[in-house]
Amino acid sequence: MTPSDLRALIRTVPDFPHPGIQFRDITTMIAHGEGLAACVGHLAQRAKAAGAEMIAGMEARGFIFGAAAAAQLGIGFLPVRKPGKLPVPTIGIDYDLEYGSNRLEIDPGAVRLGMRIVIVDDLIATGGTALAAAQLLRMAGAAVNDALFVIDLPDLGGAARLREAGLRVESLVE
Ligand code: 5GP
Repeated sequence: MTPSDLRALIRTVPDFPHPGIQFRDITTMIAHGEGLAACVGHLAQRAKAAGAEMIAGMEARGFIFGAAAAAQLGIGFLPVRKPGKLPVPTIGIDYDLEYGSNRLEIDPGAVRLGMRIVIVDDLIATGGTALAAAQLLRMAGAAVNDALFVIDLPDLGGAARLREAGLRVESLVE
C-alpha cells in the first residue's frame, strides 16, 4: 500500500474533541492489517534512511507507530511520556498549548550521549509537541535531526516550525 492508499483508511471525526475541530482518527487505519503494516513499513524505511539508532514516540499514539517501526529495524524505542508515569527520576519539559500547557518526561538514562534519535508521532498540527520532545531529547544528550509523522496538517504550520528549528520533517499523508 502506498501512502496515498493509507489516506483512505484514516477517518475524519467532526467536532472532536471540541466543536469545530476535524479530528483525524488513525484507529481505522491500525485496525486494517495491511494498512498498519504498510504505514509502519514506510516509517521504518524513512527512520533507517535517517540513520536512526533509536526511535522516540510521544504518548499515546506515537507509541503505536514508533515502537512498531523500531522493532522492525531492531533498534530501541524510547517512550516520551505524560507527567508522573515513569517510575524513575525523569527530566521534563513544559510547553504551551492553545489553551493551557502540557509536560513531557523521559528517563534520561535511556539516552546514550550523541545517540541519533528519530522522533515518530501519528500527527503534527502546530508542532508544539514534537518541538518539545526534540528539545527534551537534546537536553538528555541525543542527536535529534529527524521527525516522522503519519499525518501532517500543513495549514497549522507545524512542519515549517520544526524545519526552522533545524529538524528534517517527513510525513506519509497530508
Ligand atoms: P501539535 O503539538 O503538533 O499541535 O499536536 C500534535 C499532537 O496532538 C500529536 O501528539 C497528536 O497525537 C495530537 N493530535 C492533535 N490533533 C490530532 C488529530 O486530529 N488526530 C490525531 N490522531 N492526533 C491529533
